Amino acid sequence: MKNIACFDIGGTFIKYGILDINGKILFKNKFPSPKKDCGREIPLEISKKINELKNNYDILAIGISTAGKIDSDKGEIIFASNNLPDYTGTKLVKVIKELTGLDSFIENDVNAAAMGEYWKGAGKNIDSFICMTLGTGIGSAIVIDGKLHRGVGEGTGELGHTIINEEGEDCSCGSRGCYERYASTSSLVREYERRSDIPKGSITGKDIISRVKDKETLAVEVYNKFLNHVVTGLVNITHILDLGLIIVGGGISESGDLFFEEINSVFSKTVMPSYGQYTKIIQAKLGNDAGLVGACYTALKKLNYIK
Ligand SMILES: [Zn+2]
Repeated sequence: MKNIACFDIGGTFIKYGILDINGKILFKNKFPSPKKDCGREIPLEISKKINELKNNYDILAIGISTAGKIDSDKGEIIFASNNLPDYTGTKLVKVIKELTGLDSFIENDVNAAAMGEYWKGAGKNIDSFICMTLGTGIGSAIVIDGKLHRGVGEGTGELGHTIINEEGEDCSCGSRGCYERYASTSSLVREYERRSDIPKGSITGKDIISRVKDKETLAVEVYNKFLNHVVTGLVNITHILDLGLIIVGGGISESGDLFFEEINSVFSKTVMPSYGQYTKIIQAKLGNDAGLVGACYTALKKLNYIK
């Protein structure tokens, strides 16, 4: 049976795997992302892995989910941050074809995760939704009628850089008061560290959640403020797009049902009442595999295996 070799390229790790045409993961592994010359090193690493995988699997094509702003039609990286040095401008699909002889299909990582959830996860059988990842930053993708909304410059979904406080904290994007400065997991950690005397880097978002469960006063205060910030962005996007469903993934969303109960509760009190009657915020289902499953979907869709 033919399979898709899938890669999920992030700033820290490159996950890869073999998925069958039903999206089932037959094999997966990961290796550290190159720290320099990514435009050269990443295709070379992919080619090496393909050569190994070819020994055991019949590979039809390659699906790639990657960090950065990408041109999915041309198969190029329009822009990547310094997490992947010298990756901007890489003609990924062309170079991989030269190295492996295989066709590859690329998608932005947040978009790929959304399509993974659409195909096999929390968005299954639902045509329109927002998919949001709470992590170091905030990523989001917009799916309307089963298709990604891309924007004229492939730039849709930068919810993390919508401004919620124009006099607020400086952001890495050059603006200030961006949503992700207040509602990302790293902002939760930063605020907790700022208000306590623990050393920087000694606590994670999940640790703070467990302190909330233990009813530690500071953790509860910081967390409640964080929830309000998260909800602000969800209310804004709901009032703009009114899609009825927001799927939330990322480490902190895995802290479970309580997080989603609280988010939905604050949301329904904040959003205009008529939206609150039908809009739901739910947990992503695929976890760390969303990128690989979405990469597989990307390839199969372009190859017309998926209608
Ligand atoms: Zn920003």
